[in-house]
Amino acid sequence: MPNIANDPTRKSWINVPENSDFPIQNIPFGVFITKEDVITIGTRIGNSAIDMGALQQLGYFEGIDLTDDMFMQDTLNDFISDGKKTWRLVRNRLVEIFDSENSKLRDNKKHKDVVIFDVKDIEMLLPVQIGDYTDFYSSKEHATNVGKMFRDPENALLPNWLHIPVGYHGRSSTIVPSGVSVRRPNGQTLPADAKEPVFGPSKLVDFELETAFITTDANLMGEPIPVDQAEEYIFGMVLFNDWSARDIQKWEYVPLGPFLAKNFASSISPWIVTMDALEAFRVTGPEQSPTPLPYLQQSGENAFDINLQVAIKPENSEETVVSNSNFKYMYWSMSQQLAHHTINGCRINSGDMMGSGTISGSTPDSFGSMLELTWGGKNPIILSDGSERKFINDNDTVIIRGYCQNDEIRIGFGECASKLLPAIEIK
Ligand code: MN
Repeated sequence: MPNIANDPTRKSWINVPENSDFPIQNIPFGVFITKEDVITIGTRIGNSAIDMGALQQLGYFEGIDLTDDMFMQDTLNDFISDGKKTWRLVRNRLVEIFDSENSKLRDNKKHKDVVIFDVKDIEMLLPVQIGDYTDFYSSKEHATNVGKMFRDPENALLPNWLHIPVGYHGRSSTIVPSGVSVRRPNGQTLPADAKEPVFGPSKLVDFELETAFITTDANLMGEPIPVDQAEEYIFGMVLFNDWSARDIQKWEYVPLGPFLAKNFASSISPWIVTMDALEAFRVTGPEQSPTPLPYLQQSGENAFDINLQVAIKPENSEETVVSNSNFKYMYWSMSQQLAHHTINGCRINSGDMMGSGTISGSTPDSFGSMLELTWGGKNPIILSDGSERKFINDNDTVIIRGYCQNDEIRIGFGECASKLLPAIEIK
């Protein structure tokens, strides 16, 4: 199945503002609700949201083998289940419909009125029903920084780290789309020099700059996914803020790893950008030494050049960019993560989500968490309004942005923005 949707010379009859994350070469997938309370699967070009359920009803997907209500659903799971061939056929068809040379929908005002919405007039919902959520820990720079702070500066990386894409199973129940506020968690912490824990709102709420990938049905229980086939099962990627409570984390994480410090909230950007759309931005990942075991070995370009940025916006004030990082810094590739995840026969389903782990670069301005940016609170960041941050304050909004850019096109993710509300009072 050829991928014609990436042609960088193609123009759309829908206006695309300069530097938009969503040119006609992107065609991401999401779920939105209109002002009339209609929920639909859709895509986006420029600042226009496109109702794919309406397009299907009007016959625009004729000739593609789809169930009748494929796009009139409130999740993408069934579409994702159909596999890469269907994703390509649909993406290819969408670029044909919106190609500046194609008059069929362009010149049909009646159809356009029910298909196209201004993004200001819709609300984005969670794009998939996430069955299982796994978070990796695949940035060497992040793992080294955290190891230095939480354990031993001399032996920051644990001995397994260079051999295994380390991960843990999270919870999908508290993953929310961009725009939904989250609450500062309450929990147990052990104050410095104290012998007994105390209870109360976390004092050290942090963001984690991550991306996540969404999978399709990949394997039967018991069957691993070979590393060189893993990408076939990755539908696409989103931006991901894996909210973390560092004081709760520090007290609880030994010996079984993260628990309540992580599962109170995680935010994702609502448009899933397909791996097909990211194809032009493949790059070689970092050199892996020692050489991984054979089931994790791959050659070629398995990393993606995705610029990532984090900003903090206090209430009633301007935002300040606090980090600029890049997905290409990741030590372990998504294929290696998926191959490792299934090497024991673990089953992967349509709509599962895998977080990359915090993505830190090598320089202090590219670290992917406040924990690292302020080095555990020792070096506060001064925001543009003059206020100081060691971690995230109540009513701050954390905004993650991400995009790929070459000489010809820009493919972006939009934003993952969420506000931290004060903790619920517990007596
Ligand atoms: Mn994380």
